[in-house]
Amino acid sequence: MSDLFQEQLQALRAQSLHRKLREIGSAQGSEIEVVGRHLVNFSSNDYLGLANDPLLKKAAIAAIENFGVGAGASRLVSGTQSPHVALEVAIAKWKRAPAALAFSSGYAAAVGTLPALASKRDVIFLDKLSHASLVDGARLSGATVRVFPHNHLGKLESHLEWAQREMPDARRIVVTEAVFSMDGDQAPLGELVELKKRFDAILLLDEAHAVGVLGPHGRGLAAELGLERQVDVQMGTLSKALGVSGGYICGSRSLIDWLTNRARSFIFTTAPPPALAAAATAAIEFLGTAEGEERRLTLWKRIVRLLEKLPAAPTTSSRTKSAIIPWIVGDEQRALDLARSLQQEGLLVPAIRYPTVARGAARLRITVSAAHTEAQIVQLGDTLRRLAVSDYGPVAAERRSSGVGT
Ligand SMILES: *Cc1c(COP(=O)(O)O)cnc(C)c1O
Repeated sequence: MSDLFQEQLQALRAQSLHRKLREIGSAQGSEIEVVGRHLVNFSSNDYLGLANDPLLKKAAIAAIENFGVGAGASRLVSGTQSPHVALEVAIAKWKRAPAALAFSSGYAAAVGTLPALASKRDVIFLDKLSHASLVDGARLSGATVRVFPHNHLGKLESHLEWAQREMPDARRIVVTEAVFSMDGDQAPLGELVELKKRFDAILLLDEAHAVGVLGPHGRGLAAELGLERQVDVQMGTLSKALGVSGGYICGSRSLIDWLTNRARSFIFTTAPPPALAAAATAAIEFLGTAEGEERRLTLWKRIVRLLEKLPAAPTTSSRTKSAIIPWIVGDEQRALDLARSLQQEGLLVPAIRYPTVARGAARLRITVSAAHTEAQIVQLGDTLRRLAVSDYGPVAAERRSSGVGT
C-alpha cells in the first residue's frame, strides 16, 4: 500500500506538483509568522483584515460565554441557536434578499445547493474557471454539465440553444462566479442576466471573492451593477473578506425553504459553532457602517497602488478588477522558484499550480488587503518587478506569447 503512494507522490514531485502544509505561528494579518520567520502576507483572502479584528473576536467570545462552543446537533434537530438565526437575518438584510441560509462553508453551500436545484433530467452550464466546489456540486447533482470557455457568452448561448432544443423540459441552471478566484477577473454579469432571461434559466452567482470588496457596503458585484434581483441564487462565503468561516445562499423564501429541506450538506452535519455565526454577524454589521465602507475604500487604494507599481503585470485578463492579482508564470517550477525568491525577501506570495489552475498556467496569486500598509505594497511591487524582470520576465513572456503560459 504505502509503496503505491510513494510512487504516486514521486510522480507529483517530478512534475513540481507536490504540495505540503506550512505552519503559521500567528494570527492572520498583513504580517504572519511562517516557521519562525515574519513575512509580509500577500497570500490570504482576508481582504479587509477582519480575521483578527477585535470587534469580531469580542462577538465570538460573548457567544461562547452565552451559547458554549459546540452547537451539539444538526440545524434541523436542535442545533439552530439564536446566533445562527441572527446571522441569517443579517445576511438577508445586508444582501437585500428575502431570505438566507448559512452553511458550514462555501464549499458545503455549493455541494449542497446544486444537487438540490438540479437532477439528472436537468442541465447545468458551468464557466470553465469555476471553483472546484461548483464543479463538484454540479457533478454530484447528476445533471448534464455543459462547460463553456471562461466568460464566453457566445458558447454559453449555443449551449443554451442546444439544451432548449434537445432537452426542452430540463431545468437550465447557469453557474458562474462574480470574481474568479485564481484570475481576479469579473463575470460579464449584465450580459449573463440577459441570456438567462432569454432562455428562461436560473442563475447561480458565487460571490466568494466579491463580497466585502465590490458594491456598496461590500454587497458584491450584483449589487454594484444593480442586478441583485436578477440573480436567482446568490452564493457567498463568510470566510474570505468577512474574516470568519462559513458559506451562505440567499434568494427567495421558497428557495431557502427548499434548501433547508433538500441540501444534504446543510442537513446532515452539525450546525457551525455559534461563536462563528456571531463573529460573521459582527463582520456584516461592520460592513454596513461608515467605518466599514472606509475600510473597503482603503483596500481599493492599496489595489490601485499595486497596479500602478506593476503596469506590465502578466495578468490573464483586462477584466481584473478585484483584490486578486495573478502574475502568470506558466511553468510550475518557475512559479515555485519565483515564490521562493520573494520569500527570501520577506514576502509571502503563493505559487498556484495544477490542479487549482490548468497545467502550464502556474502563477503567483497576489492578494491585497486593507490591512497592508502602503509601504508593504510598494515593497512588493519593487521586489517583484526586479525579480521577474531580471530572472524570469523574458522567458515567461516568451512562453506566454507561444500560448503555453495561459
Ligand atoms: C473559497 C471559495 C469557495 C469555498 O468557500 P469556503 O468558505 O472557503 O469553503 C467557493 N467558491 C469560490 C469561488 C471560492 O473562492
